[in-house]
Amino acid sequence: MTVKDKIETVVLWLKESQFAIALTGAGISVESGIPAFRGAQGLWDKYDPSEYATIDAFMRAPYKVWGMLKELYEITLKAEPNPTHKALAELERLGKLKAVITQNVDSLHQKAGSKKVIEFHGTGETLTCILCGAKYRIEEINLEKVPPFCECGGILKPDVVFFGEPIPLHALREAFELSERCDLLLVVGTSAQVYPAADIPRVAKRSGAKVVEINLEPTPLTNTISDIFIEGKAGEILPLILKAYKTQCE
Ligand code: NAD
Repeated sequence: MTVKDKIETVVLWLKESQFAIALTGAGISVESGIPAFRGAQGLWDKYDPSEYATIDAFMRAPYKVWGMLKELYEITLKAEPNPTHKALAELERLGKLKAVITQNVDSLHQKAGSKKVIEFHGTGETLTCILCGAKYRIEEINLEKVPPFCECGGILKPDVVFFGEPIPLHALREAFELSERCDLLLVVGTSAQVYPAADIPRVAKRSGAKVVEINLEPTPLTNTISDIFIEGKAGEILPLILKAYKTQCE
């Protein structure tokens, strides 16, 4: 099947679908200038996840971990939504996409106009004091000198899920309810190696949904869970799907 044929099939499935959702990962924000964890120029080439991405690492060496967080914030705070975020937002506006479950913490879906976004791994927009639990918004924080401190003297931690931390309960519940309910799942820019997020396509498939995967390279879902795998840049494929869908539906 050519990419064109695959896109035509996805558009047909979108037209037939009553409840389509998307699962997105770090790969969709690469075209906005935010590095992913895995893959070419991924963050893990530079930062060992066991030293930078676990909650134990944060508690043990917050100064060191904040060095990486500062670098990431400097990129994400300036980043703008790209054609993938915009196409998904438009599909929602057209009434076709019911929700986006994202593993990303960069708020770019919301910036693009998506309304129903489940942030499976939390958000970088807010931070919590590890001592007193006080909440801050990122705009209130001076990132010149890290780590940032709470008024009480405690270190602030972004409300993102580090390895070893639980998924926020409301997001977990909602994401799995949506996975069971959807009849079409678009899986975009995720390596599908981080659990329990990687279970979402499996649950959707078991519940009868069609699974479409868009990625630069195959993942553990490809040829097992995915009904169609479209190899390529999400920022090129999603706009093509949107354009073909709109042409056929308008
Ligand atoms: P990942 O880094 O493990 O994998 C990224 C995937 O995206 C890879 O499979 C890669 O082939 C693919 N990819 C890269 N560029 C692409 C493109 N232009 N089009 C399509 N696919 C592309 O990401 P993950 O699966 O989301 O899991 C890692 C964790 O990292 C997530 O929990 C996420 O919270 C976190 N993270 C988030 C951000 C962010 O918020 N933007 C950035 C880095 C990491």
